[in-house]
Amino acid sequence: GKSVDLNDLSRAPRQYQVMQRLRDANGPLPPDALNDITGWRAALRALTHKGYVVQRALKPEHPVAPSKPHSLNPAQRKAVAAVCGIFGGYRAFLLDGVTGSGKTEVYLSLVEHLIPKGLQALVLTPEIGLTPQLVRRFKARFGDAVYVLHSGLSDGERVAAWLAARDGRAQIVIGTRSAVFVPLIRPGLIIVDEEHDLSYKQQDGFRYAARDMALMRAKRAGVPIVLGSATPSLETLQLARQKRLSRLQLPDRAGPAVAPCVHMIDLRGQPVNAGLTPALNSAIKRHLLAGGQVLLFINRRGYATRLVCHGCGWIAECSRCDARLTVHRKDERLSCHHCGQAQPLPDRCTDCGHADLRFLGKGTERLEERLNKLFPDAGVLRFDRDSTRGKHAMDNHLKAAREGRYRILVGTQMLAKGHDLPDITLVGIINADQGLYGVDIRSAERMSQLIIQVAGRAGRGHKPGEVYLQTYHPDHPLLARLLKDGYAGFVQAALKERRIESLPPFSHLALLRAEATKATVPDQFLGDACKIARGLGVSGVDLIGPFPAAMVRRAGRYRALLLLRSKSRRCLQALLSPLVEALQASKYARRVRWSIDVDPQETV
Ligand code: ADP
Ligand code: ZN
Ligand code: ZN
Repeated sequence: GKSVDLNDLSRAPRQYQVMQRLRDANGPLPPDALNDITGWRAALRALTHKGYVVQRALKPEHPVAPSKPHSLNPAQRKAVAAVCGIFGGYRAFLLDGVTGSGKTEVYLSLVEHLIPKGLQALVLTPEIGLTPQLVRRFKARFGDAVYVLHSGLSDGERVAAWLAARDGRAQIVIGTRSAVFVPLIRPGLIIVDEEHDLSYKQQDGFRYAARDMALMRAKRAGVPIVLGSATPSLETLQLARQKRLSRLQLPDRAGPAVAPCVHMIDLRGQPVNAGLTPALNSAIKRHLLAGGQVLLFINRRGYATRLVCHGCGWIAECSRCDARLTVHRKDERLSCHHCGQAQPLPDRCTDCGHADLRFLGKGTERLEERLNKLFPDAGVLRFDRDSTRGKHAMDNHLKAAREGRYRILVGTQMLAKGHDLPDITLVGIINADQGLYGVDIRSAERMSQLIIQVAGRAGRGHKPGEVYLQTYHPDHPLLARLLKDGYAGFVQAALKERRIESLPPFSHLALLRAEATKATVPDQFLGDACKIARGLGVSGVDLIGPFPAAMVRRAGRYRALLLLRSKSRRCLQALLSPLVEALQASKYARRVRWSIDVDPQETV
């Protein structure tokens, strides 16, 4: 699915033109294809600046020693043979295997078979900065044949990489989301690693789902495509059930590692300090004594989630959002995680002047502080957006973790991705509950994927792993199912719910979002949209809303939503095109920012 933030771009005709060109190309776009648009460079820069267009070429920073392939196990061999058998034609595959089951090794082997045929491979990955290990392994195997596209470089470097892809010098292109558009002279294979990842869906402006684009592109180019994941999205699993996608399974962990043992800790009535229960503490102690490495996962950065006045109960809130400010104690500031606004930490209550201000709620910083107190000799390393801000900070952090200088790693979801940290033997999930009762229709799916991915961090090397999962809701049906029957069990239960509620993959959604500085305008605009939609006389599409966004005010704007739902994608499309046109003429259109998100990944 793809969609456009028409309103935003209609005020910048050149950017609109460039974006349109990208969209129309719907795949490979040669670098000189923009030359006829006057001022395309500035437009592209502006789009890049806004985050609408992201990609750059990465120069090799340090040479990587070539590596020898493993001899594949039977499941891996079967997967490789299935895909190689399709070379030269289209078929979509789901490579479904737990973390550590050897999916990356399968990708490497596929590319090894592909290159002698003079064909090119396109490998999409969610975030290169967070998972340098995928690129490292490809470079170790294929050296200079690997070109990397990601955000953060100049136009010139990007163009150079695109040229190399277009003339075939780049045999392997690894890139994030937007690399799905890279021109390839002899495409032979497309791989989408971690296909379930949310970052494949652009969240702002020109919204396209790179995974769906990749599927379309593979079909058009007549090449096989492999979607890999330990926790495939429900959509992809449904395609597999319908046999529109062949499922290849890697049931076991490759190499010496064995699956970790998962324990649930009931948080109710427990003495908890900075999120740690006595049971988790003793597990940490045990693993440290045994020489293991420990990873603790907490989904909040900062020190505390609230600054509260003990005198009057005042809570520090963002002036531009319906949100509380997070306390960052290291740099003594309060910051809003929604609009980015920051201010110094006050020493008195701004309401009553009381000096007794307390920190409530916990984040990575507080957990780090507590662990340093409890385990002073272990060395605690924190991974979050604050601690990994610099250019090479993430790389350096990972290196320090791998070298074992730190025995305890504390991190947000950025640590849940595909890092290979072989010494980790214990993973603790401080609180699994956020996802279970989230407002978004996909909250539970995301949380389950996260739990499985995080659990996948344990026991990757020769040492067996353990996972401790803390929750206030040990009886939650989806969580219980997840722990009892793994991700497959969760999927079964979740698909049943989705079917009953007629939600994707059993229906198609589009989300019309509107925001304005005046509180009543988004509602008026969406009300108007409803009227227009009904007047268009397209049947088979439900209109749900308008309803306020979960956080009504963000960055000074009031936000509301209208959800469009249909069993038939065709019906939905038949409504959307004329609706978009009519909305541009709506009398409220000038006073709102609006966008239509087809196949929205988030519905809040
Ligand atoms: P995934 O991508 O599914 O997480 P990897 O390909 O990273 O899995 O494999 C996990 C670990 O097992 C890696 O250290 C890898 O080198 C090793 N490995 C993969 N395949 C094999 C194999 N056939 N024999 C031995 N070790 C393997
Ligand atoms: Zn006060
Ligand atoms: Zn804010």
